[in-house]
Amino acid sequence: MREETLALTDPAFSLPEELLFSVQGKISSAEQLAFSDGMSKFFENLSSETDVSAKIVTIRRPEVKTFNGRSRLSAKIDVSGDVREVWFEVEEKYGKFLCFERSDAFLVALLNWAMRERCDFVCEAPVGEELLYQIRTYLIPSLVKASKRLHAPKISGEIDVKMLPNAGAVGTGISCGIDSLHAVACNAQSPFPHLRLTHLILNNVGAFSHDDEDRQFRWQTEHAKQFAREYGFEFIQTNSNLAEAFPQNHLLTHTYSSIFSVLVLQKLWGVYFYASSGYDFGAFELKNNEFNSSDHYELLSLPCFSSRQLKIYSEGGAKTRFEKTKLLADFVPAQKYLHVCTSDIGGNCNVCGKCRRTLVSLDALGKLEEFCAVFDIDYYKLHRRKYLRWLAAQQINPCGDLMVKEAFKILRKDISPVLFAEASVLAVAAFVRSRAAKIPLLRKIYRKIFKRNS
Ligand SMILES: [Zn+2]
Repeated sequence: MREETLALTDPAFSLPEELLFSVQGKISSAEQLAFSDGMSKFFENLSSETDVSAKIVTIRRPEVKTFNGRSRLSAKIDVSGDVREVWFEVEEKYGKFLCFERSDAFLVALLNWAMRERCDFVCEAPVGEELLYQIRTYLIPSLVKASKRLHAPKISGEIDVKMLPNAGAVGTGISCGIDSLHAVACNAQSPFPHLRLTHLILNNVGAFSHDDEDRQFRWQTEHAKQFAREYGFEFIQTNSNLAEAFPQNHLLTHTYSSIFSVLVLQKLWGVYFYASSGYDFGAFELKNNEFNSSDHYELLSLPCFSSRQLKIYSEGGAKTRFEKTKLLADFVPAQKYLHVCTSDIGGNCNVCGKCRRTLVSLDALGKLEEFCAVFDIDYYKLHRRKYLRWLAAQQINPCGDLMVKEAFKILRKDISPVLFAEASVLAVAAFVRSRAAKIPLLRKIYRKIFKRNS
């Protein structure tokens, strides 16, 4: 009875007196156009809007070249006369999967950059129908609405409504970190046949940004290759100059650069598990997205980057980093290969933020000894007091590591009031330092002092 009343009073349910426009003829002509040659012109009038400050980014037609056993897909990107080439390369045997037919990968790679730099796109090669529809209709408007300064790029080009050849491979990235090994543990022997992992891939599209990146990337490649060999996966190693050609803040934009490497190989993948986020879906956030990690809105962005031929999942999205660590605690491949470190020393250093986070989590789970092959557990036990002080400081500092909350709840009983007091001093100092780093003059002074002392 109540529902009936609501239905009658809700204006959304009242019938319009007449249709605003007739759709019958328009649909049939659009369909005829779309399916006549598999292409449909798509043109947003770049001069019709008021934003005259926008620059034009032209993505030239991508092409594939093979040399020295490697195949390279590249496209020239013309930013109002400044031409840069972006390339992505794989071993020659995977060259046939490089997608030269579409602009998709390059469009996604530069989408967030263009939103920040106020650019519009002209794509010489067509864009996949669903990709263009999804990013224009859902992704761009949502991000712009929730931000104070992002621009909504206009996109011009042809729509490709054809199906591409697709090998139906199922892949995930293999950094051997918590997220990556969680994707392997959960999907290697999936009961869903079309979602069973077949390939592991190690991409270099921005994560390896240190001066010594070649050495570290080589070590990581060998480590991942050995993992794939031992557990029977195909292994692909790729390289790209995207981060050099268009430098972007990796934390804020990693979803875009990573999906660039997925869409470049969209003729290979039927399913791709993108495993990057340390948060679960409860942390979904669009507000002020220009200042936050892009993994906070993967629940929106990854479906927008997917198509009927390639489904991209935010793998592990139902779990926190701690819950993933818990699942891996008894996973033998993780006990042999886990690598979470941000240093350049090869293995885990035990002392960087990611090593500390993982060690205290394993401590809370009572699983330290199981990981003695990848961490120096004796060192941890010897310095456990310092690790617990660091853990307590993360709870006090408003900018502390949120991913150790669950470990803190378990280990709290081992943290004495004296240790808490010490942690408070550390937390206040860390907070002041992080705030001061945002003031350009103080940052400059700090760098000068730090440089002189190093
Ligand atoms: Zn480390």
